[in-house]
Amino acid sequence: MKSSKIIKNLFVTILVFISVILLFSSVYTAGEQPQIISLSELAQKIQADEVRSLTVEENTVTATLSDDSITETHKEAETSLTETLGQFGVSSEQLSQIAITVQEPSGWKFWSGILLPTLIPILVIGFLFWFMFRQARSGASQALSFGKSNIRLFAPFKDRITFADVAGATEAKQELVEVVDFLKNSKKYLDLGAQIPRGVLLLGPPGTGKTLLARAVAGEAQVPYFHISASEFVEMFVGVGASRTRDAFQTAKKAAPSILFIDEIDAIGRERGAGLGGGHDEREQTLNQILVEMDGFDKEAQVVVLAATNRPDILDPALLRPGRFDRRVILDLPDLKDREAILKIHGRNKKLAKDIDYTRIAQRTPGFSGADLANLMNEGAILAARKNKKVVAQDDLYEAVEKVILGPERRSRVFGKKEKEITAYHEAGHALVAASLKDADPVHKVSIIARGQAGGYTLKLPIEDRYLKTRKQFLADLAVTFGGYATEEIMFKDISTGASNDLSVASEITRKMVSKYGMSEKFGPITFGKTQELIFLGREISNEKNYSESVAAEIDKEVSSIIEKAYNAAKKIITKRKSALEAIAKELMKKETLERDDFDALIKQFKFKLIEV
Ligand code: ADP
Ligand code: MG
Ligand code: ZN
Repeated sequence: MKSSKIIKNLFVTILVFISVILLFSSVYTAGEQPQIISLSELAQKIQADEVRSLTVEENTVTATLSDDSITETHKEAETSLTETLGQFGVSSEQLSQIAITVQEPSGWKFWSGILLPTLIPILVIGFLFWFMFRQARSGASQALSFGKSNIRLFAPFKDRITFADVAGATEAKQELVEVVDFLKNSKKYLDLGAQIPRGVLLLGPPGTGKTLLARAVAGEAQVPYFHISASEFVEMFVGVGASRTRDAFQTAKKAAPSILFIDEIDAIGRERGAGLGGGHDEREQTLNQILVEMDGFDKEAQVVVLAATNRPDILDPALLRPGRFDRRVILDLPDLKDREAILKIHGRNKKLAKDIDYTRIAQRTPGFSGADLANLMNEGAILAARKNKKVVAQDDLYEAVEKVILGPERRSRVFGKKEKEITAYHEAGHALVAASLKDADPVHKVSIIARGQAGGYTLKLPIEDRYLKTRKQFLADLAVTFGGYATEEIMFKDISTGASNDLSVASEITRKMVSKYGMSEKFGPITFGKTQELIFLGREISNEKNYSESVAAEIDKEVSSIIEKAYNAAKKIITKRKSALEAIAKELMKKETLERDDFDALIKQFKFKLIEV
C-alpha cells in the first residue's frame, strides 16, 4: 500500500471522529442553558406561586416559571420530588396547582451519558486494531507477490514507434524485419518446418537505439510486447529472481504470439562462476532460470525474446548458444549519413530555421551516438529559447555541439588583457599549423571563449568519418597539438599552463603510435605490451608489460624523437608564417570566435602551400 493512501485513510477517519464529537457537543449545548437553582429556592418559588409546571427526569427537575423562564434543580436520587419539596415546607395543595410530569430518561441523554464515555475508547482501540491489521495484510500480500515480475505490457498502439522512427541501423532493421514477419505470419514458417527464432540479442554502445529498436519491433509486429529491465528481476529481495523470471515468461507465453524484451541483460547475464559476488548468488540463479525458460519453449511457442546489452563481452556463453540468443543484431555508432538522418528525425517536432544544414552538423559530430544527437537537437532548441528566438538557427545547433563536447561556455570568465592575448595566439597557433599541413583535419572553429575546462579551443574535424588513421595523419595531428605550445614559446619566450593538456594528449598519441600501431621507424611492425580492451567501451582495463627495461628505455627514446619531429615542424610553420599567425590572433581578440568560413577566408589571403610534417 502506498503511504499516501495510508495518510488519506487516517485523515478520513480522524475527520469522522471530529465530526461525531462536534455533533454530540452540539446536542448538549443546544438551546438556552437553564438557570440552576437550589431545591430551597425552588420550594420558595412554588410557595410564591411563581412556578407553572415541573418536569422530573431522573434527578433533574426542570421548572417553567410563570414568566416562561426555565430553571433547573437537582434532587437526591432516592427520594421522590414531592417528598423532598414537602420537607422544604411546600404543602400538597400548593403542589397540586402545578402540572408535574415525570419523564422517562430520554434515549439520547441516557445513551450518551452512559455509553459514550465507554464507547469512544473502544472505537478508538478498534480502529487502531483494524488499521494495523490492514497494514499487516497488505504487507503480507506484498510478500506473496514478490515472485511476480512487475512486467509491463506495452500498448503498441499508443504512441506507436515504427522502423521509420529509427534512422540508419539498416542491417539491424533488416534482421528485425524477419523477426516481425515470423510473428505476423508464423504459420508460413511452421508449415515448412522452420523454427521460429527464440532469442535476438541487440548489441551496441549506449545510446545507439537498442531500446528504441525493440519498441519499433513491437510497433511493427503489432503483437503484445512485454518490457522488463533485467535489474528488476533481482531488485529489492533476494531469492525472487528465478520466480520472477518464470512469471515473466509465463505471462508472455499466455499472450503468444508476443515479444518479451529484457533490457540491459548484462545485469544478470554475466558469465557465471567469474568469482565475483560468490559462486551461487542470486544473479546466477536468475540467469539459470532464463536459460531453462528459453529451452522450455516448445516448437510451436510463438514468443520471441529480445534482449539488449552494451556489454556482450561479459555475457555468459550459455546465453549465446543456438536455441537461446542465437541471433545477434549489432548496432554501431552512426556514420555521417546516419547521423544526418537521426538529426532530421529529431528535428521533425522542432521549429527550425529554413536554412538548417544537417550535413554540416553531422560532420561536426563524429563519435556521437543517437542519444547524443537527440540531446544535441534539444540543447539547440533550449539555447534558441533562451535567446528568445522564434526558430532554432544553425548557430544554435553548432553551439549545442560544442556544449555537448566541451561543456557550456563560460563567458563570465574574464581574461586579463595579457591572458587574452596569450590564449588568442595559442589557439591561432593550433589553427595555423592545421591549415598548413596536408594531412591535418580542417579547422571548423577557433574560439577563445572558455568552455568547460578549456581556456579556448580549436575545433578540427575530419571531412568524412574515419575508421583508419595513417602515420602521416598522426604526425600532422601531433604537430597541430604542438602549435599552441610552439607559438607561446616563439611569441612570448615563455610557456603558460594553458598548454599542459596539449602535452599530455600528444604524449599519449605518440606512445600508442610506437607501442600499439607499429608506426615507429626504429622498431617497425611490432607491438609492445598486452592491453585488454573492453570492446564496446574502448577503454583499456589492464596493461601488461611484456618487454624488458632496456626496451622500455628505447621506447621512451623513440617517443621523444617523434615528439621532437612534430614539435619542430610546428615551430617551423609558426616562424615562417608569423604574419598569418598575427592576423588570426588579432581577429580572435576582436571577435573571440572564428567560424570555418571566416577562418578560410582569412587564410586564403596568404596563399599557403600545404606541406607535410
Ligand atoms: P540504448 O541503445 O542505450 O538503449 P536508446 O534506444 O535508449 O539507446 O536510445 C536513446 C535515445 O536516442 C532514443 O530515445 C532516441 O531518441 C535516440 N536515438 C538513438 N538511436 C537513434 C536512431 N537510430 N534514430 C533515431 N533516434 C535515435
Ligand atoms: Mg537502452
Ligand atoms: Zn592548445
